[in-house]
Amino acid sequence: MTPRRALYLEEMGLGPVWRLRAEPVASPRAELGTLGWDELKCQVAGCTACALHQTRTQAVFGVGDEHADWLFVGEAPGAEEDAQGEPFVGQAGKLLDNMLKSIGLKRGDNVYIANVLKCRPPGNRNPLPEEVAQCQPYLKRQIELIQPKLIVTLGKFAAQALLGQESTIASLRGKAHTYQGIPLIVTYHPAYLLRTLPDKAKAWQDLCLAQETMQRLNSGASAAI
Ligand code: URA
Repeated sequence: MTPRRALYLEEMGLGPVWRLRAEPVASPRAELGTLGWDELKCQVAGCTACALHQTRTQAVFGVGDEHADWLFVGEAPGAEEDAQGEPFVGQAGKLLDNMLKSIGLKRGDNVYIANVLKCRPPGNRNPLPEEVAQCQPYLKRQIELIQPKLIVTLGKFAAQALLGQESTIASLRGKAHTYQGIPLIVTYHPAYLLRTLPDKAKAWQDLCLAQETMQRLNSGASAAI
């Protein structure tokens, strides 16, 4: 409805009718592709694009070196991340820190950590497709700003979101994929590894592949092994 028509209805004493029938106004979302870090952080902090904003304590943007060579991408904040505002600070986060250490990396030191969803799904349920669709542009912009040399996805949702395929982790592991030209290695989610100890050996193989891939990239070779 045009503002002029709305005004007309107001003048006719039909304001309340108009209000009841008005189309919901789409929430204004800036063109993310032009945003710098500060503006992007503000957008994420105030985001109301999906229902998760109603139950979050705060949005969890991401943490680390904004020019990192390494980007690790998880699924979504859990209860502790929602409370503290930082990704991977719970039990799964401790394992992630140990995984990083095993290949000579440290949170925040040439490493950035982000999630596909910036807000916690209640009860730690799986992300819904519409939540991923609404939130993924933020991750996309983060990746454009970071320009990492290598992306490591943690778990099925991150792999599927960035590769745009519904494949299983088992079928995606063991080779370098690409996201927008950036080599991408798939591995298991640390929370899954805490429940499934035998797969830790496979995750170790994935981390070795990631390390080898980075060495190749640093030597000027292609990522393909
Ligand atoms: N699991 C995730 O995928 N991300 C977090 O930040 C914490 C747990």
